[in-house]
Amino acid sequence: MLDKACPVCKSVMTAGNEPWHFVCKRCHYEMATLLPTINKTDLHRPLDEFSRESGLRTVRNINFKTLLNRICTFTSNHHKLLDVGCAHGWFLELAKNHFDVLGIEPDQTIFKQTLKLGLPIRMGYFPQILSTDEKFDVIVFNDVIEHIPDIQSVLSACNDHLKDDGLLVLNLPDSNGVFYRLSKIFNFIGMKGFFERMWQVGMPSPHIHYFNQKNLGILLASQGFEVKDKGRLETLSLDGLYTRLTYANKKTRPIVTSLIYCLIFIAMPLLKILPSDIAYVITQKKK
Ligand SMILES: [Zn+2]
Repeated sequence: MLDKACPVCKSVMTAGNEPWHFVCKRCHYEMATLLPTINKTDLHRPLDEFSRESGLRTVRNINFKTLLNRICTFTSNHHKLLDVGCAHGWFLELAKNHFDVLGIEPDQTIFKQTLKLGLPIRMGYFPQILSTDEKFDVIVFNDVIEHIPDIQSVLSACNDHLKDDGLLVLNLPDSNGVFYRLSKIFNFIGMKGFFERMWQVGMPSPHIHYFNQKNLGILLASQGFEVKDKGRLETLSLDGLYTRLTYANKKTRPIVTSLIYCLIFIAMPLLKILPSDIAYVITQKKK
Protein backbone atom coordinates (compact mmCIF):
# COMPACT_ATOMS: atom_id res chain seq x y z
CA MET A 1 0.00 0.00 0.00
CA LEU A 2 1.28 3.43 -0.94
CA ASP A 3 0.57 6.34 1.33
CA LYS A 4 -0.51 8.55 -1.55
CA ALA A 5 -3.86 9.87 -2.66
CA CYS A 6 -5.13 9.57 -6.23
CA PRO A 7 -4.81 13.04 -7.86
CA VAL A 8 -8.25 12.57 -9.47
CA CYS A 9 -10.57 11.24 -6.74
CA LYS A 10 -8.34 11.38 -3.61
CA SER A 11 -8.77 7.64 -2.87
CA VAL A 12 -5.72 5.79 -1.49
CA MET A 13 -3.67 4.22 -4.31
CA THR A 14 -3.19 0.45 -4.10
CA ALA A 15 -0.43 -1.89 -5.34
CA GLY A 16 -0.53 -2.61 -9.08
CA ASN A 17 1.21 -5.10 -11.40
CA GLU A 18 4.83 -4.30 -10.42
CA PRO A 19 6.52 -2.91 -7.27
CA TRP A 20 6.69 0.54 -8.93
CA HIS A 21 3.09 0.48 -10.28
CA PHE A 22 0.01 1.69 -8.36
CA VAL A 23 -3.66 1.93 -9.27
CA CYS A 24 -6.75 3.75 -8.02
CA LYS A 25 -9.52 1.17 -7.73
CA ARG A 26 -12.19 3.86 -7.72
CA CYS A 27 -11.43 5.95 -10.84
CA HIS A 28 -8.86 3.64 -12.57
CA TYR A 29 -6.08 6.25 -12.64
CA GLU A 30 -2.65 4.53 -12.63
CA MET A 31 0.76 5.81 -11.52
CA ALA A 32 4.41 4.76 -11.37
CA THR A 33 7.08 5.64 -8.82
CA LEU A 34 9.79 5.63 -11.54
CA LEU A 35 12.39 8.41 -11.35
CA PRO A 36 13.43 10.64 -14.30
CA THR A 37 17.15 10.91 -15.16
CA ILE A 38 17.03 13.74 -17.75
CA ASN A 39 20.49 15.27 -18.35
CA LYS A 40 22.11 12.47 -16.29
CA THR A 41 22.33 9.80 -18.99
CA ASP A 42 23.95 11.57 -21.93
CA LEU A 43 26.43 8.76 -22.73
CA HIS A 44 25.72 7.42 -26.25
CA ARG A 45 22.63 9.65 -26.44
CA PRO A 46 23.12 11.26 -29.89
CA LEU A 47 22.99 7.90 -31.74
CA ASP A 48 19.96 6.64 -29.82
CA GLU A 49 18.23 9.95 -30.21
CA PHE A 50 18.73 9.84 -33.98
CA SER A 51 17.16 6.32 -34.23
CA ARG A 52 14.26 7.33 -32.02
CA GLU A 53 13.71 10.54 -33.96
CA SER A 54 13.58 8.96 -37.43
CA GLY A 55 11.31 6.13 -36.24
CA LEU A 56 8.75 8.35 -34.58
CA ARG A 57 8.56 11.24 -36.98
CA THR A 58 5.97 9.91 -39.46
CA VAL A 59 3.28 9.01 -36.95
CA ARG A 60 3.94 12.12 -34.86
CA ASN A 61 3.56 14.40 -37.89
CA ILE A 62 0.23 12.80 -38.83
CA ASN A 63 -1.00 13.29 -35.26
CA PHE A 64 0.33 16.83 -34.92
CA LYS A 65 -1.46 17.89 -38.11
CA THR A 66 -4.73 16.39 -36.81
CA LEU A 67 -4.30 18.08 -33.44
CA LEU A 68 -3.38 21.43 -34.96
CA ASN A 69 -6.48 21.33 -37.20
CA ARG A 70 -8.63 20.71 -34.13
CA ILE A 71 -6.96 23.56 -32.17
CA CYS A 72 -7.44 25.92 -35.15
CA THR A 73 -11.21 25.33 -35.05
CA PHE A 74 -11.16 27.16 -31.68
CA THR A 75 -8.41 29.75 -32.15
CA SER A 76 -5.49 30.82 -34.37
CA ASN A 77 -4.83 34.27 -35.93
CA HIS A 78 -1.20 34.20 -34.76
CA HIS A 79 -2.15 34.12 -31.10
CA LYS A 80 0.55 33.08 -28.62
CA LEU A 81 1.11 29.32 -28.31
CA LEU A 82 3.44 27.62 -25.83
CA ASP A 83 4.67 24.06 -26.53
CA VAL A 84 5.90 22.51 -23.26
CA GLY A 85 8.53 19.81 -23.84
CA CYS A 86 8.84 20.70 -27.53
CA ALA A 87 11.60 18.08 -28.13
CA HIS A 88 12.75 18.22 -31.78
CA GLY A 89 10.39 21.09 -32.60
CA TRP A 90 8.13 19.10 -34.95
CA PHE A 91 4.91 20.56 -33.53
CA LEU A 92 6.40 24.07 -33.45
CA GLU A 93 7.37 23.76 -37.14
CA LEU A 94 3.72 23.11 -38.04
CA ALA A 95 2.15 25.47 -35.50
CA LYS A 96 4.29 28.49 -36.42
CA ASN A 97 2.19 28.90 -39.61
CA HIS A 98 -0.86 29.67 -37.46
CA PHE A 99 0.51 30.92 -34.12
CA ASP A 100 3.22 33.05 -32.53
CA VAL A 101 5.06 30.06 -31.01
CA LEU A 102 7.45 29.43 -28.12
CA GLY A 103 8.89 26.04 -27.08
CA ILE A 104 10.35 24.83 -23.79
CA GLU A 105 12.68 21.82 -23.62
CA PRO A 106 14.47 20.57 -20.47
CA ASP A 107 16.74 17.96 -22.10
CA GLN A 108 20.06 19.64 -22.89
CA THR A 109 21.03 17.31 -25.80
CA ILE A 110 17.67 17.69 -27.56
CA PHE A 111 17.52 21.42 -26.81
CA LYS A 112 20.88 22.01 -28.57
CA GLN A 113 19.74 20.06 -31.66
CA THR A 114 16.41 21.90 -31.90
CA LEU A 115 17.99 25.33 -31.37
CA LYS A 116 19.95 24.79 -34.61
CA LEU A 117 16.63 24.78 -36.52
CA GLY A 118 16.19 28.44 -35.60
CA LEU A 119 12.99 27.88 -33.62
CA PRO A 120 12.13 30.13 -30.64
CA ILE A 121 12.85 27.81 -27.68
CA ARG A 122 14.14 28.04 -24.13
CA MET A 123 15.95 25.37 -22.14
CA GLY A 124 14.32 24.60 -18.81
CA TYR A 125 11.21 23.41 -17.05
CA PHE A 126 7.65 24.72 -17.08
CA PRO A 127 6.72 27.03 -15.41
CA GLN A 128 10.05 28.08 -13.86
CA ILE A 129 11.55 29.16 -17.21
CA LEU A 130 8.70 31.65 -17.79
CA SER A 131 8.45 35.05 -16.16
CA THR A 132 5.47 35.23 -13.81
CA ASP A 133 3.48 37.62 -16.03
CA GLU A 134 3.93 35.72 -19.33
CA LYS A 135 0.51 34.69 -20.73
CA PHE A 136 -0.47 32.53 -23.67
CA ASP A 137 -3.62 31.86 -25.70
CA VAL A 138 -2.76 28.16 -26.05
CA ILE A 139 -0.54 25.84 -23.96
CA VAL A 140 0.19 22.43 -25.48
CA PHE A 141 1.69 19.31 -23.87
CA ASN A 142 2.49 16.71 -26.55
CA ASP A 143 3.39 13.43 -24.81
CA VAL A 144 4.70 15.40 -21.85
CA ILE A 145 2.12 15.69 -19.04
CA GLU A 146 2.36 11.94 -18.28
CA HIS A 147 6.06 12.42 -17.39
CA ILE A 148 5.54 15.20 -14.81
CA PRO A 149 5.30 13.98 -11.18
CA ASP A 150 3.37 16.90 -9.62
CA ILE A 151 0.65 17.16 -12.24
CA GLN A 152 -1.68 19.26 -10.05
CA SER A 153 0.92 22.04 -9.64
CA VAL A 154 1.58 22.02 -13.38
CA LEU A 155 -2.14 22.32 -14.21
CA SER A 156 -2.42 25.15 -11.71
CA ALA A 157 0.56 26.88 -13.42
CA CYS A 158 -1.22 26.44 -16.78
CA ASN A 159 -4.17 28.30 -15.32
CA ASP A 160 -1.82 31.14 -14.24
CA HIS A 161 -0.11 31.38 -17.65
CA LEU A 162 -3.23 31.17 -19.82
CA LYS A 163 -5.18 34.25 -20.83
CA ASP A 164 -8.94 34.29 -20.13
CA ASP A 165 -10.63 31.68 -22.37
CA GLY A 166 -7.17 30.29 -23.21
CA LEU A 167 -6.82 26.67 -24.32
CA LEU A 168 -4.92 23.87 -22.60
CA VAL A 169 -4.23 21.00 -25.02
CA LEU A 170 -3.02 17.58 -23.86
CA ASN A 171 -1.95 14.64 -26.02
CA LEU A 172 -1.07 11.60 -23.91
CA PRO A 173 -1.24 7.78 -23.54
CA ASP A 174 -4.66 6.31 -22.69
CA SER A 175 -5.03 3.39 -20.27
CA ASN A 176 -7.99 2.10 -22.32
CA GLY A 177 -5.75 1.76 -25.40
CA VAL A 178 -5.45 -1.69 -26.97
CA PHE A 179 -1.65 -1.91 -26.61
CA TYR A 180 -1.70 -0.89 -22.96
CA ARG A 181 -4.39 -3.48 -22.19
CA LEU A 182 -2.40 -6.13 -24.07
CA SER A 183 0.78 -5.19 -22.19
CA LYS A 184 -1.03 -5.85 -18.90
CA ILE A 185 -2.06 -9.33 -20.08
CA PHE A 186 1.52 -10.09 -21.19
CA ASN A 187 2.81 -8.80 -17.86
CA PHE A 188 0.36 -11.04 -15.99
CA ILE A 189 1.76 -14.13 -17.75
CA GLY A 190 5.34 -13.12 -16.92
CA MET A 191 6.35 -11.30 -20.14
CA LYS A 192 7.20 -7.97 -18.54
CA GLY A 193 9.07 -6.17 -21.35
CA PHE A 194 5.99 -4.79 -23.16
CA PHE A 195 4.46 -3.39 -19.96
CA GLU A 196 7.81 -1.84 -18.98
CA ARG A 197 8.05 -0.33 -22.47
CA MET A 198 4.59 1.26 -22.12
CA TRP A 199 5.77 2.98 -18.92
CA GLN A 200 9.19 3.73 -20.50
CA VAL A 201 11.06 2.03 -17.66
CA GLY A 202 14.82 2.76 -17.92
CA MET A 203 14.33 5.75 -20.28
CA PRO A 204 15.58 9.24 -19.24
CA SER A 205 12.01 10.35 -18.51
CA PRO A 206 9.64 7.42 -17.74
CA HIS A 207 5.86 7.73 -17.55
CA ILE A 208 4.47 8.65 -14.13
CA HIS A 209 0.73 8.72 -14.97
CA TYR A 210 -1.76 6.72 -17.03
CA PHE A 211 -5.21 8.28 -17.39
CA ASN A 212 -8.31 7.39 -19.36
CA GLN A 213 -10.50 10.09 -20.88
CA LYS A 214 -13.02 9.95 -18.03
CA ASN A 215 -10.66 10.36 -15.06
CA LEU A 216 -8.57 12.91 -16.98
CA GLY A 217 -11.72 14.99 -17.61
CA ILE A 218 -12.53 14.92 -13.88
CA LEU A 219 -8.98 16.04 -12.96
CA LEU A 220 -9.04 18.87 -15.52
CA ALA A 221 -12.47 20.08 -14.33
CA SER A 222 -11.19 20.16 -10.73
CA GLN A 223 -8.31 22.39 -11.90
CA GLY A 224 -10.56 24.89 -13.68
CA PHE A 225 -10.63 23.55 -17.26
CA GLU A 226 -13.69 22.73 -19.33
CA VAL A 227 -13.31 20.01 -21.97
CA LYS A 228 -14.23 21.41 -25.42
CA ASP A 229 -13.04 18.54 -27.62
CA LYS A 230 -11.51 15.10 -27.20
CA GLY A 231 -10.56 12.15 -29.35
CA ARG A 232 -7.88 9.63 -30.25
CA LEU A 233 -4.76 9.81 -32.41
CA GLU A 234 -2.84 7.17 -34.38
CA THR A 235 -0.49 4.94 -32.34
CA LEU A 236 1.25 3.32 -35.29
CA SER A 237 2.23 4.05 -38.84
CA LEU A 238 4.00 1.31 -40.82
CA ASP A 239 6.36 3.95 -42.21
CA GLY A 240 9.15 4.22 -39.61
CA LEU A 241 7.78 1.37 -37.48
CA TYR A 242 10.77 -0.96 -37.99
CA THR A 243 13.22 1.71 -36.79
CA ARG A 244 10.95 2.35 -33.82
CA LEU A 245 10.83 -1.34 -32.92
CA THR A 246 14.62 -1.58 -33.23
CA TYR A 247 15.10 1.41 -30.95
CA ALA A 248 12.58 0.14 -28.39
CA ASN A 249 14.01 -3.39 -28.26
CA LYS A 250 17.77 -3.01 -28.55
CA LYS A 251 18.39 -6.43 -26.95
CA THR A 252 15.96 -8.24 -29.31
CA ARG A 253 17.42 -10.20 -32.26
CA PRO A 254 16.62 -8.77 -35.74
CA ILE A 255 14.61 -11.91 -36.67
CA VAL A 256 12.29 -11.35 -33.67
CA THR A 257 11.92 -7.64 -34.51
CA SER A 258 11.03 -8.63 -38.11
CA LEU A 259 8.45 -11.10 -36.81
CA ILE A 260 6.85 -8.45 -34.58
CA TYR A 261 6.76 -6.06 -37.57
CA CYS A 262 4.99 -8.72 -39.72
CA LEU A 263 2.43 -9.43 -36.98
CA ILE A 264 1.63 -5.72 -36.63
CA PHE A 265 1.38 -5.41 -40.43
CA ILE A 266 -1.20 -8.25 -40.53
CA ALA A 267 -3.10 -6.89 -37.52
CA MET A 268 -3.19 -3.28 -38.82
CA PRO A 269 -6.83 -3.33 -40.09
CA LEU A 270 -7.98 -4.66 -36.68
CA LEU A 271 -5.84 -2.12 -34.79
CA LYS A 272 -7.52 0.70 -36.75
CA ILE A 273 -10.93 -0.14 -35.24
CA LEU A 274 -9.77 -0.85 -31.65
CA PRO A 275 -9.23 2.03 -29.16
CA SER A 276 -5.89 3.71 -29.97
CA ASP A 277 -3.35 4.26 -27.19
CA ILE A 278 -3.03 8.01 -27.71
CA ALA A 279 -5.77 10.40 -26.63
CA TYR A 280 -6.05 14.16 -26.96
CA VAL A 281 -8.15 16.67 -25.09
CA ILE A 282 -8.68 20.37 -25.80
CA THR A 283 -9.87 22.32 -22.76
CA GLN A 284 -10.70 25.94 -22.07
CA LYS A 285 -9.81 27.87 -18.94
CA LYS A 286 -13.03 28.49 -17.00
CA LYS A 287 -13.86 32.09 -16.10
ZN1 LIG B 1 -8.90 7.82 -8.28
